[in-house]
Amino acid sequence: MQKAKLALKTDTQSHTVIHLSDTVTVGGKDLLIVGGPCAVEDRAQMEAVASQLAIAPIQAIRGGVYKPRTSPYDFQGLGLEGLQILAAVRQRYGFPVITEVMAIAQIEEIAAHADVLQVGSRNMQNFDLLKALGGVNKPVVLKRGLAATLEEFVMAAEYILSHGNPHVILCERGIRSFDTYTRNVLDLGAVVALKQITHLPVIVDPSHAAGKRELVADLARAAIAAGADGIMVECHPVPEKSVSDARQALSLDEMVELVRSLKAIAAAVGRTLPEGAGSLPRLLFV
Ligand code: PEP
Ligand code: MN
Repeated sequence: MQKAKLALKTDTQSHTVIHLSDTVTVGGKDLLIVGGPCAVEDRAQMEAVASQLAIAPIQAIRGGVYKPRTSPYDFQGLGLEGLQILAAVRQRYGFPVITEVMAIAQIEEIAAHADVLQVGSRNMQNFDLLKALGGVNKPVVLKRGLAATLEEFVMAAEYILSHGNPHVILCERGIRSFDTYTRNVLDLGAVVALKQITHLPVIVDPSHAAGKRELVADLARAAIAAGADGIMVECHPVPEKSVSDARQALSLDEMVELVRSLKAIAAAVGRTLPEGAGSLPRLLFV
């Protein structure tokens, strides 16, 4: 970590609070709970997610429109149509939205529709993409590479920071190991270490770590207990029908239940679960 200049803590107390919107932050006392499907599929799906998770509550919505799929024959995402769905849901429900950027050419369009740009594991060391995101005035969620050391992870963040964007959120999402029972291995040791050595917010994605929905809630709770600043969890109105990552998706009811169960754990580690950023659409009140 010797070459990192901007990501490291200057003193043991320093921590950066990042705004996702006027009211939603990560890195302070408030935890950040992000929910949503792996991929945006249609407007009805995202409306169901937003309306049902407003009561959980969650603070931000996720959904991929450019999907890094292992097979080129699998669904690649809705692209611009998906961004328009995200923007409509954000407008209607007030949630900040997070979506993945895979290429420099997508940055402008995504930044015009979303609040937070996600760099996926497969692009953690796409240095040209990282440099370009340094010039963007929106927060970036940087996911740990499939087999990245912590030094490589922090140096990837350093690329974005050193190119001018101070709003970097680190995301531990599991790393490859020898066992195939879980999709990846959730490295909670990395969460504790990153919180000690960097001032950046650290969130955990238990969904891609586990790969199996029955493991997700317990891993999410463990992440908060270990000091993570938030979680990002895949959930879907009809999980088994998800076009991607169906096996790891929670139902919306399970997501609500998970968020409720976090309250006591948050309190035990000196954190709070904020009110949701979203609300029921105004139409319901007229
Ligand atoms: C995702 O968040 O849907 C995703 C593709 O994650 P990762 O880059 O961690 O595999
Ligand atoms: Mn996914």
